[in-house]
Amino acid sequence: MQGEDNATELELTASLQFLPGVGGDRAQKLAKLGLRNVRDLLFFFPRDYEFPAPSVPVDRLREGVEAALVGVITDAEIVSRTPGKSVFGAIVETSTGSVRILFFNQPFRAETLTFDRKVMISGAPKLTGLRWEFVHPKVTILDGDEAVPKPQILPIYALTDGIKQADLRKLTDLATASAAHAIREVMPESLRRQSAIRLRHAGINVVGDLPDIATALRAIHRPDSKEAIVAARTRFIFQELLVMQLALAIRRRRLTSALQAPVISRTGLWDARIKNRFPFELTGDQQRVIDEVCVDMSRQFPMNRMLQGDVGSGKTVVAVYAMMLAVANGYQAVLMAPTEVLARQHFRTLQKMLDGSRVRVGLLCGSLTAAERRDVLAGTAAGEIDLLVGTQALLFSIEFAKLGLCVIDEQHKFGVRQRVQLRGGGIDPHYLVMSATPIPRSVAMTMFGDVELSTLNEKPPGRCEVNTYLAHDGWKERWWQFVKERLAEGRQAYVVAPRVSPDERNTERNTDQDAEADSEDGKEDVSSVLTVFENLRSTVFADHRVALLHGRLSNEEKQSVMDAFAAGEIDVLVSTTVIEVGIDVPNATVMAILGAERFGLAQLHQLRGRVSRGTHAGHVALFTDGAQAASDNERLQVLEKTDDGFEIAEADFRMRGPGDMLGQRQSGLPPLRIASLVEDQEILAVARAVAQEMIDDDPEMDDPSLADLKQQMMKRYEARLSMGDTA
Ligand code: ADP
Ligand code: MG
Repeated sequence: MQGEDNATELELTASLQFLPGVGGDRAQKLAKLGLRNVRDLLFFFPRDYEFPAPSVPVDRLREGVEAALVGVITDAEIVSRTPGKSVFGAIVETSTGSVRILFFNQPFRAETLTFDRKVMISGAPKLTGLRWEFVHPKVTILDGDEAVPKPQILPIYALTDGIKQADLRKLTDLATASAAHAIREVMPESLRRQSAIRLRHAGINVVGDLPDIATALRAIHRPDSKEAIVAARTRFIFQELLVMQLALAIRRRRLTSALQAPVISRTGLWDARIKNRFPFELTGDQQRVIDEVCVDMSRQFPMNRMLQGDVGSGKTVVAVYAMMLAVANGYQAVLMAPTEVLARQHFRTLQKMLDGSRVRVGLLCGSLTAAERRDVLAGTAAGEIDLLVGTQALLFSIEFAKLGLCVIDEQHKFGVRQRVQLRGGGIDPHYLVMSATPIPRSVAMTMFGDVELSTLNEKPPGRCEVNTYLAHDGWKERWWQFVKERLAEGRQAYVVAPRVSPDERNTERNTDQDAEADSEDGKEDVSSVLTVFENLRSTVFADHRVALLHGRLSNEEKQSVMDAFAAGEIDVLVSTTVIEVGIDVPNATVMAILGAERFGLAQLHQLRGRVSRGTHAGHVALFTDGAQAASDNERLQVLEKTDDGFEIAEADFRMRGPGDMLGQRQSGLPPLRIASLVEDQEILAVARAVAQEMIDDDPEMDDPSLADLKQQMMKRYEARLSMGDTA
């Protein structure tokens, strides 16, 4: 958006150095704020505003609360002239009573604040004796009968050394007055009107159309009301998000339209046959998501869909349905799990469900013998295996005869959603990625801008509640007692600790963590599974079968521990977060999490999901390692309040900020200037929808009225639009 064609008093590209009162030295300082020319100034938005104090009658003044008064000076004197300790005082008589104003070490005040002068003062008063007193109030001298001026809202800008608020205000004043009109409008009037309507529909407070660029620029620097600020900010936030979403929509379209995918269609007969294989009715949510998936797969370009659903929401069913439909259409499907334990679990589920059918299921994982492995690979390449399940690492670049669908389970890692290099016989498979770590919608819409999103909110019926307890001091005895009682009833228990051994520096990380807190570690007082295991089995649970599970065990060892636990041969499983992902042992109903403050909320929520799998109510107690009890930890309290994974992710996001959760950096997108992924989620959703429609109508934005908008988008997102990279 270049606007140099307009005759202006100030060129937009004019260097700040030549503006009145700037010069070379200041210009350098301004450059530190990213301010080089007049255009930069216009788009240097205030970070906040200073609102004028409300005018308040004297009998309504409150100590320390900002107020403004208009009155006449009836008495003024220098109370003390001692240099360095001078005091000037005056009485201001208003229509509702009089107040005193005081200035220390400003004897010059006596020259302007003279008898009979009309003034407006504002500040926070203090009651001394019988009179309200304002120390160093802001004073505006009013001319005789002149109407009291409307007090101004003042912008507050980010500053740097040597640049004062007043300097920036002067400069932005000058820039808005003499150059705002020269900025070219990138959002045509119809787009501003339509968008305003859409925003209103989404419940966002927009009065009339979104303001045009010149109006918005003036209002954001020199607003005359709160409403004007909101309108201007909404416009800029929307514009910024729209430009981003346009880029993502174009990218989405270019990516998919270049690829050729198998058309996988659904018939009533197939639908009925597949559903017959499930031992239960689908929930409404599962049905809806299956429909979304089927529409995608019936197109000739690859589906790229992420299915989010809380722990236990029944994502597997959706995947199984889609895979069976692919097989029914004569294609192969592959299901990738992050761990061998989970891959085997899926394999068993599929085998059970497909028992007696002609569908052939294969398993590819690390613990196969060389011969078994060869067989599976050959069967897959020959098309004899219809459904292949395996661990992700092993499924890269293997050969399929006719791959139609690739499902990736438990994909939590942000930003590393690599497209797997699968050779599928000249076609690109459809992708379905499943995640139980709910990503706030706004993050998903940004990070995974080129991915369609489906969400399972509803849980399958018959789910038991998980009771979550935030432990405080002296709780452990009682808790172990409680666990023993559950064990006596035939249930099983988990004990989770953040790290493997006491001497280990870092919290255990496996591929599935949204790992957090290991920063100030390296101290012995962090719970470790080795210590806890030794301790519990020699004391409290000496009479029970206690086992140990962590990421340093071999796959076979892990598998045999998990199998034994699933078979009920172990009472208490002491584990790191390797149990976090997908494990399904319905008889395990109690869990203690030690060092809970070291985990992310989403991860804790995942963990507790392990004890809500069956018909018995689940119980989870959170203990901390630090001095602060879990019950006093504000972050952990969220878990007690809600069982909704999305709400939890949202809360985590708000408390920790988007920073460490996704990092704009990781997304590969340029930073946002005014919009916030935390604060502006509703506007983002509207921007995404509007962008999608615009690109559906006009895939390359060829409409001349959108030329400037397109140019702005290209400038900002060119790198992201180049199709070379993945993700
Ligand atoms: P997740 O979304 O965590 O992967 P799963 O797919 O493992 O969840 O499902 C959790 C459990 O719920 C499984 O035991 C599954 O059999 C069961 N389940 C899934 N859908 C339904 C349904 N519609 N009705 C009853 N049980 C269901
Ligand atoms: Mg699952």
